[in-house]
Amino acid sequence: MKKLKELLGNTRIRSLPDYVLKHVGFALWPIDITFYLTFSCNNFCPHCYHRILEKDQASGDKSSESSSPSLSQYERFIKECSFLKPQIRLSGGEPFLYPHLLELTDFIKECGLNLTISTNGSLLAPNAHSMLDLRVDVVIISLYGPACVHDRIVQRKGAFHEIENGIRTIVALKRKRNSCIPRIIINYILTNDNYLSFPEMVQWAENIGGDTITLTHLWFWDPQAVAQQNRDFPEFGLLKSTPNLALRDIDPHVLVRNVDLVQRKTHKIQIIYFPLLGPDEIITYYQQPDQHLGARRCIIPWTVSYVFPNGDLKPCYLNYSTGNIKEQSYKQIWNGKKFRTFRIALAKHGYFPACKRCTGLFLFNGNKGYRISMTQHHKRPD
Ligand code: SF4
Repeated sequence: MKKLKELLGNTRIRSLPDYVLKHVGFALWPIDITFYLTFSCNNFCPHCYHRILEKDQASGDKSSESSSPSLSQYERFIKECSFLKPQIRLSGGEPFLYPHLLELTDFIKECGLNLTISTNGSLLAPNAHSMLDLRVDVVIISLYGPACVHDRIVQRKGAFHEIENGIRTIVALKRKRNSCIPRIIINYILTNDNYLSFPEMVQWAENIGGDTITLTHLWFWDPQAVAQQNRDFPEFGLLKSTPNLALRDIDPHVLVRNVDLVQRKTHKIQIIYFPLLGPDEIITYYQQPDQHLGARRCIIPWTVSYVFPNGDLKPCYLNYSTGNIKEQSYKQIWNGKKFRTFRIALAKHGYFPACKRCTGLFLFNGNKGYRISMTQHHKRPD
């Protein structure tokens, strides 16, 4: 059954019959819907894109979180599309700071949907029992390195130990209840400060009982690409470039050696590279940000959607809202005029100028790392 499901999933990704309808912009059904429930976070990672979005809100942007959907509005929306069986991901900010997280989790599981929670791990331990009781399928935890490096990057002392404690608690509970869920995915995000520690942290993840560790190359909006995007496609929302200081000092040649070191060893833990880049591509990724990598067409908006804390539903991280779940139904938005306009333009151009470092371009590239993890975290990590 599992194999059949995987096959169907891949068939859906590979063949995408709805992409054939690209001239009219229709899409069949979403594989994955992500809900960013809140921008609030108890970590303070300087590279987090959500901080930029949050600042926009503070300066009066209309996406103000004070107008978040109510719990019943989220439930109505999920109920409406639940028969299509999309995978649901709850994220933030820090989703455990959203006051109704457990009620919403319960509702999603009652609808029979596969659920992933993406978290910074700080509140995992106190919620470990609930994660098992509510049958959460996957927990993704963002990690930045050994204790002192992690705490420095997230700017909070003790943050690493909270993660350790949280994972240990879940692993112990899984053993006690003889349960294989939630699967624990450790999302190791590469920055200047931690890219040398990856081999060490693979061992740590294996020892602590993680199921998977993902080596994630942080996506970014390059200033030049953003300028071109804003000039050529202002109708799809104006973008701000992301602060790239976190990546400026990565020596990609050293990174390639480190990846090679890890790949040569046998590990019990599953290792995913996200996106999966060859040695030359890793060097291009960091040294030539304006150089295109990956597929020449993006099909993300035919397969996934993102609901932001104010209820806006977007096809991706481009600043373009296709509707709001507080006022419209799933059906009205998913194949509504705004969403179709976006798809038609994207199908015409293949990808936009700003897309050059988006993981979306690795879906049609035979990129196994991306395919495995696309439903888990198509997101710039917090
Ligand atoms: S590649 Fe471009 S259009 Fe596709 S998901 Fe990424 S930013 Fe959006």
